[in-house]
Amino acid sequence: MQTEEQKSKTAPGREPQTKYLREQQKKQRQQQRFIKKETQTAARYLGRLEQLSGAPAAMQPFVEVLRRIYVEMQGVETDRPTIGTYCVMVPQELIYAAGAQPVKLCSGNYTAFSIGDDLTPRDACPLVKAVAGFQHTGLMPVYRDCSMMVVPITCDCKKKIAGMLRDSVELITLHVPASREDADMEAYLRQLYELMERLEAATGSPISSGSLAEGFQMVGRAQAEFSEFIRLRKSSPALLRGTHSMAMMNASAYMSADRWADAMHGVNLELKERIRTGEKISSRSLPRILLTGSPIVFPNIKIPLLIEEMGGLVSADETCMGERGMWDPAVITDHSFNGMLRALANRALRPCPCPTFADNTQRIYRLKQMIRDNEIQGVIYHVLRGCLVYDFEYRQIEEELGKLEIPVIRLESDYNEEDVEQLRIRIEAFIELIKLRQEPVRRTGIRESF
Ligand code: SF4
Ligand code: SF4
Repeated sequence: MQTEEQKSKTAPGREPQTKYLREQQKKQRQQQRFIKKETQTAARYLGRLEQLSGAPAAMQPFVEVLRRIYVEMQGVETDRPTIGTYCVMVPQELIYAAGAQPVKLCSGNYTAFSIGDDLTPRDACPLVKAVAGFQHTGLMPVYRDCSMMVVPITCDCKKKIAGMLRDSVELITLHVPASREDADMEAYLRQLYELMERLEAATGSPISSGSLAEGFQMVGRAQAEFSEFIRLRKSSPALLRGTHSMAMMNASAYMSADRWADAMHGVNLELKERIRTGEKISSRSLPRILLTGSPIVFPNIKIPLLIEEMGGLVSADETCMGERGMWDPAVITDHSFNGMLRALANRALRPCPCPTFADNTQRIYRLKQMIRDNEIQGVIYHVLRGCLVYDFEYRQIEEELGKLEIPVIRLESDYNEEDVEQLRIRIEAFIELIKLRQEPVRRTGIRESF
């Protein structure tokens, strides 16, 4: 006598149904494997972040947000519709004005990267491969929940990922000009008007002068806490580690500006208390390093972690999921609606030190300013494999820093852990080099000037 299973295999007409079920089960197993691997990696990096000494207790809300998104795989905590963005050049004020919450979707996920690797050309950067991976699996709530996505076209990878995402989500692109002439600003302003209309349609909330002013207020408060934080971060001896700082900045991608500002206020109070009580993160004078280059997005924080686990200090970072994200507040000189939008267009393009622009004097100026203000002793220049815009800039940056006698190394990395040992060796050697250069300062008490 045939069992039910045998019958279902042989009965005419039931074969396609069984095949469908088998495929569904296979898909489910693949999804479970994906979730397990992805959450394990994120949990491991969160663990290392927490083990690193000197974390302020007040940074816990940021850690919890990263845990919620990457380990518990939940959506962003908000009652507003969410709008996905892929670059700091998307004005968050406009999204808040439409009654929505911006969510930065650039990804640092290794498991999503390995899936996206099969969907994109070999030489595409890992960041967009991870985005493609998430979009393909449809498993990550922060991507799934978005009412619309905004993709500024800043490089070929962004252009092509916008094309891929468009198939499954409401999407608008912003053309980012190569230069920042007045005509370019006018063109960007026109695009912001178009973005405004699309946001209104996606959220059903009209944007008024009043709601735009509220958007400015929300973001402005976060930026005010951020500048206080940066002022405290410059302290020497250091009050906190750069990896912790970068994690807090990464968490801003999934928090409303209000919540982020409240949590950052707590961190600032704790850092001021550290100054009062003389608490430092280390009794030794740690080599002060500036980390710059391609985006460093959680959970891909292996480079700042390695630097600080090897005895260096990331005193400052010039990266777009780090300090760049809140660096320049929009300056309103004309309070009309058009004036406010113009302020957003200006802020998005004029001061941005992203190498996507043809002229990078802005970027070199900003790096030199950070080196001076943070008493930087060495620069680590990070290049994600396939990220040409950052790689192109390296030679010129190396030349400029050479004139200041600031050592710099280029570290290329990918979204996996295969390169960790090689990175560790190079970072360790770089830190030793800085320590050797510190010696004359220690003996003579004279700091090198530049
Ligand atoms: S690296 Fe440049 S283009 Fe890429 S997200 Fe950051 S600011 Fe935008
Ligand atoms: S700027 Fe670099 S990291 Fe960002 S999307 Fe383009 S290639 Fe990728």
